Amino acid sequence: MTSDRPLQVIAIDGPAGSGKSTIAKRLADALAMEYLDTGAMYRAVTYAVLLEGLDLTDRANDDTVGWIARRMKLGLSQDGTVTVDGVDVTNEIRGQRVTGSVSTVAAIPAVRAELVSRQREWAAERGGGVLEGRDIGTAVFPDALLKVYLTATPEVRALRRAGEASQQSVAEIAAEISRRDALDSEREHDPLRQAEGAIEVDTSDLSIDEVVALIGRQVELAR
Ligand code: C5P
Repeated sequence: MTSDRPLQVIAIDGPAGSGKSTIAKRLADALAMEYLDTGAMYRAVTYAVLLEGLDLTDRANDDTVGWIARRMKLGLSQDGTVTVDGVDVTNEIRGQRVTGSVSTVAAIPAVRAELVSRQREWAAERGGGVLEGRDIGTAVFPDALLKVYLTATPEVRALRRAGEASQQSVAEIAAEISRRDALDSEREHDPLRQAEGAIEVDTSDLSIDEVVALIGRQVELAR
């Protein structure tokens, strides 16, 4: 689709468990837009890399990891289904193995370059959309119509994730989240941080409906 109308992008960033996916999905529905979970894209690449048995601590493998990211056929549908080369990996990418390695894969510049380019293409084809991740407002779409930075206390974030993945204790999940936050915010390329001009929303004590309504009002003001 080609149009002179500027892309209508809503960028939602924040750490694990801040409510990004739930809020982004609900907001997209309310605005009759499509939604892109960019974390699922990094998870899908990680899944494909682990399948190859590559040692992720060896920087000499970064080129191969980048190559895998460039050649993989990635499918993301609005119902949350994720496919890699036609195979449904929706459940696998949420498992502990992928979760434990995804921040290492996401720190590789060649992986970021490829996925950022796919994310921009996705939005251009639709005239915009709601994109959630870690660097949407800072790197992928710094000129987004609206940039939101979601936060929540570490306790709330761990409890939310515990509700989604019950095999681990809350303490284990809290430790994993804080390890991933550290890797994501301390990496060299496009680290997690609040974008300039982003509104910060602490979701700890707000319901999903309240957060969606609050962001929806900001979208109306920005339009
Ligand atoms: O959002 P989710 O927790 O599924 O993201 C998984 C991981 O993907 C993050 O911990 C981060 O390392 C990476 N990621 C990223 N940039 C994004 C989205 C996710 O680096 N835009």
